[in-house]
Amino acid sequence: MTSFWSPLIKRAKDLSASGETAELLTFYAGVLRAQQAIYEHLNSVGTGTARGGFRDDLSALLSCLPTLLEVVAETGSELLANEARRLSGEGQESLRSMLISYWQTRADHSFFAKALVQPYARLMADRGVEQLERRPAIDESRCPFCGGRPQLGLFSHEDSDVAEGSRRLLCSTCLSEWPFPRCTCPFCMEQRPSNLAYFGAPEFAHVSIEACDTCSHYFKRIDLTKFGLAAPLVDEVASAPLDVWARERGYRKIELNLVGV
Ligand SMILES: [Zn+2]
Ligand SMILES: [Zn+2]
Repeated sequence: MTSFWSPLIKRAKDLSASGETAELLTFYAGVLRAQQAIYEHLNSVGTGTARGGFRDDLSALLSCLPTLLEVVAETGSELLANEARRLSGEGQESLRSMLISYWQTRADHSFFAKALVQPYARLMADRGVEQLERRPAIDESRCPFCGGRPQLGLFSHEDSDVAEGSRRLLCSTCLSEWPFPRCTCPFCMEQRPSNLAYFGAPEFAHVSIEACDTCSHYFKRIDLTKFGLAAPLVDEVASAPLDVWARERGYRKIELNLVGV
């Protein structure tokens, strides 16, 4: 079960050796290690907790918060480190509110809540929990398991074998994948080719920007047929220069990644 996190941590460490996103990836590698520990802890607690009723599981989830706060206080930006220190002195009620508010809105700038909920929701997906308490309501632009927005798109040989014109989206909350039509904007469901644009850069041959001129949103697609060793969540962060490029052209990201890009 832990094999989900290990390749991500290794890829983040490898890519953090150099380049303009080195600092970001060093931080992300530390956060991923904390998330792996949180996942393992939640997985080890008795069956009475962490069963997919979000409010019922809050206490188990909050017991893992110090693991995350410690890493961020040590390795985060000044802003995040200060926030980590402030949160370690916060009472349970206010921390519960923070998590419930994130669950209801999925606001992508809520770093601590998002980082803590991701391993929990991923565990629920791995356990095959039938109905995760879903907020916000599911529509076709959201993850059918938990209602999260797509963090990125994925394309692999599997997709080309299974169905023509298919790909997957990876959920920003539970980090699981679901199939989605290839030439469709996952924010507003636009399908007209004239309103959908694709951009890339030679230094990121397996990553491309998919942008929609109808709603002005974009997200990134990782093509594993071009580079099978990519770890999509990490490669998405490592290709941050493409985000700068998309924003300069007036596009807004569907969902900021965990490190805020
Ligand atoms: Zn999800
Ligand atoms: Zn759109």
